[in-house]
Amino acid sequence: MAGTTAILSFVPQAQFDYEPGQFLSLQVPHKENPKDLLWRAYSLSLPVEMAKKHGYELCIRKMDGGHAGTYLETLKPGDWITVRASYGEFTLRTEPGRGVCFIGTGTGIAPLRSIALSKEFANNDLLFGIAILGFRTYEEVPYAGDFERVGVATTYAISDTKEKLDFPFYNGRVTDVLKRLKSDFPWKETDFYMCGNGFMIRDVIQFLKTSHGVEDKAIIAEAFEAAAKQKAA
Ligand SMILES: Cc1cc2nc3c(=O)[nH]c(=O)nc-3n(C[C@H](O)[C@H](O)[C@H](O)COP(=O)(O)OP(=O)(O)OC[C@H]3O[C@@H](n4cnc5c(N)ncnc54)[C@H](O)[C@@H]3O)c2cc1C
Repeated sequence: MAGTTAILSFVPQAQFDYEPGQFLSLQVPHKENPKDLLWRAYSLSLPVEMAKKHGYELCIRKMDGGHAGTYLETLKPGDWITVRASYGEFTLRTEPGRGVCFIGTGTGIAPLRSIALSKEFANNDLLFGIAILGFRTYEEVPYAGDFERVGVATTYAISDTKEKLDFPFYNGRVTDVLKRLKSDFPWKETDFYMCGNGFMIRDVIQFLKTSHGVEDKAIIAEAFEAAAKQKAA
């Protein structure tokens, strides 16, 4: 994958279970004092039934200067890692007959993919599934085609390109795509699953609530980093 994002695939010593959308905790040595061990959260990007067959998978963005980023760069095939699993409540909770809208930016795609490819999602008798996935550049898009393969109509919002893009790509941010959904979109019959940076999540929630009266119970969100800790984009 292009840029500083990588797929980390591993086979655990003992297989473990998790729900689609959950994350694990990865042990990472402190970059200056490697004897100090830190823990970092990473979402599992495959549902467990596929992970048990093909390997457990993470989709990781390397943050320059970060402890995990520095450590992950040193990993080679065959190395051991230490993880604790599984955690989180970012899981499928949509009732049959309702629609699902996945909204993700960057590696926030990971838990959404795990949900979309899961047997729980396939068997849920949903009204529909759509995805709006945001990346800075076209080259950063991971897992292209995976959502579409399971019947989830997907738009890729690309925020940082001068090239004029055609559907399924869109020049802009995920919020721009949301604002362009048709007025008869079933806002009240849809659950919105969003994952990624805190600013995106804050903006999307504000839009859903103020423009379409979407209720809290229809909003399922997981921020990888709180908006307050980030630099504004
Ligand atoms: C529930 C959950 C799930 C998550 N899932 C994923 C996932 O699937 N994929 C993913 O990529 N991330 C995920 N994250 C984020 C992940 O846990 C880490 O926060 C992220 O990878 C950064 O870790 P780090 O140790 O590399 O950075 P840290 O060392 O924690 O640094 C944090 C920030 O400070 C900056 N920084 C640190 N040291 C310096 C320095 N010396 N100079 C300048 N800047 C510095 C780093 O660039 C970084 O931006 C998730 C987070 C949560 C809470």
